[in-house]
Amino acid sequence: MSFETTGLSKNLLKTIREIGYVFPTSIQQEAIPEILQGRDLLACAQTGTGKTASFALPIVDILQNTRKRNRLPRAIIMAPTRELAAQVEENIIQYAGGTGLSTVLLVGGEIVTSQERKLKKGVDIIIATPGRLIDMFERGRMVLIDIKIVVIDEADRMLDMGFMPDVDRILAMLPKLRQTLLFSATIAKEIQQISSQYQLNPKQITITRQAKTADTIDQHVIHVDTINKRKVMRKILSEHPSNEPTIVFCNRKRDVDIVMRSLVRHGYAAQAFHGDMSQHARNDALDSFKRGESRILVTSDVAARGIDVSGVTLVINFDMPVNNEDYVHRIGRTGRAGNTGKAITFVTKSEKAKLSRLEHLIKKTISPLMVEIAEEEKAPVVVKERSQRPERAERSSRIRTSNNRILKEEEFPSNSGPIIGFGDFIPAFMLIDPYSKMNATTA
Ligand code: AMP
Repeated sequence: MSFETTGLSKNLLKTIREIGYVFPTSIQQEAIPEILQGRDLLACAQTGTGKTASFALPIVDILQNTRKRNRLPRAIIMAPTRELAAQVEENIIQYAGGTGLSTVLLVGGEIVTSQERKLKKGVDIIIATPGRLIDMFERGRMVLIDIKIVVIDEADRMLDMGFMPDVDRILAMLPKLRQTLLFSATIAKEIQQISSQYQLNPKQITITRQAKTADTIDQHVIHVDTINKRKVMRKILSEHPSNEPTIVFCNRKRDVDIVMRSLVRHGYAAQAFHGDMSQHARNDALDSFKRGESRILVTSDVAARGIDVSGVTLVINFDMPVNNEDYVHRIGRTGRAGNTGKAITFVTKSEKAKLSRLEHLIKKTISPLMVEIAEEEKAPVVVKERSQRPERAERSSRIRTSNNRILKEEEFPSNSGPIIGFGDFIPAFMLIDPYSKMNATTA
């Protein structure tokens, strides 16, 4: 099937050719004709399948061919995160080039006045996170009586993030006569309920099995002790083409910074990206990664959904995700739109059972990869110097390797390694968690 048979207008077909899309993806083949005909849609599709274009292209087409009333907004697209919303807006601006349609991005962390100014001037398409959308509505800055199409993107994520009551409120205040398009990676009971309440005989499309990982991603696990993770990561990075973008996922924001700083210290161009950074800093980090100025983006799960950076060829799960579902989204940052990619997940001894549950979820065995790190790179055996008084011992403790070399601070292990005490006797003060004591200085 070609784009010509989807029913899109000539100018959009031309834009698509210029962008370089040759064939519509499965979701685009199924969704575009239905949306153009005005039908509601309940689509179960993963990120990376081309789902944004599947709703954005027909929306642009419909709006360019229908009359505006007093420059009131005619479409709303809701997304769970600022980054995803920004990306959707980027795509729409690209698809709407030459049509004269205008957009506004309503997300938290951006200056309200510039958003208000745009709304006042008149926009056709609002792209928003639910919270800021309600906020603007309550300030009386938006008139929504002319909304013809509403999209709820990544509905399952909205549910996880607790946005469903906001989404519900927004849907309830929109005109009844409208088209509602619901996209979700999984269709949970609550999403089905929203669909029954707000959609009229929706066309149901399922593009992939639930929680299926894309076949274009070469998936591996590496069994590694926490203490050796950074060394193994550097080994992987050193063997990966040096100009190819890589995303590294950590579970905790604190560790994102630690891992980023460690990479920078070892000469890698890395940027951190997580929810505790200001919106400005997040935009800068993402832009620099997109432009290729930094090769590695170290991030928490904030970026797992939706972030679309073309050409990411490697994803490293420095930590196994807390929720197995996030694994699918994390590794979905690579192997997008038919390209191939590699995903490597670090698994510690205590996470083996979790790995089995993950493999059960994705219905796939993830093959283990052996990575040799040089003997001198291996985590040192830790010896603590003797001291009479516990409190003094902690202050003056030095870490020696088994060959009696005192470690520099940046070589300190990042997690509890073996502690060699005095024969069989290990004094209580040595049973401290080195991670909690040392992570501020770890390399
Ligand atoms: P999405 O699933 O919307 O996040 O899209 C993933 C990526 O696929 C984005 O980089 C799109 O630009 C790209 N894309 C969307 N549709 C097509 C297509 N028909 N051919 C090639 N790439 C596409």
